[in-house]
Amino acid sequence: MKLLTLNFLTCARKTCKATAASFPLHCREVELEQVEMDPNPLFIKNMLPRLDWKAMKGLTQELGLPQLPNEAPSEEELQGADGEPTQVLNDLHTLLMETSVVSGKLVCGNCEYEYPVKDGIASFLLPSHMV
Ligand SMILES: [Zn+2]
Repeated sequence: MKLLTLNFLTCARKTCKATAASFPLHCREVELEQVEMDPNPLFIKNMLPRLDWKAMKGLTQELGLPQLPNEAPSEEELQGADGEPTQVLNDLHTLLMETSVVSGKLVCGNCEYEYPVKDGIASFLLPSHMV
């Protein structure tokens, strides 16, 4: 699953939905994979305003990836004067689209339930007593 996906996931438990601690889920013992993809500058540009930047920054810290700046880049920082994508945009593409979690656990910061990730797919099925 792409790191971008983690920016849109919260704990599946009803009791956690209302708490701020259930987002973002935390990565534990994860194995990452880099899969090359054609860059889509427009997609990144449109995605950026919907991204929870603070959560994304926290994620890169947890994973020991290159650190993001404190503030999301502005639109001007994504495209050079010549209209070409900038390094900032290319780095975001690498981080959000090309970096994937292959295996490990996604952990809720509220209930500490661990959602397993296997072969790049996270399972959000809960045992019936926890739903
Ligand atoms: Zn939870």
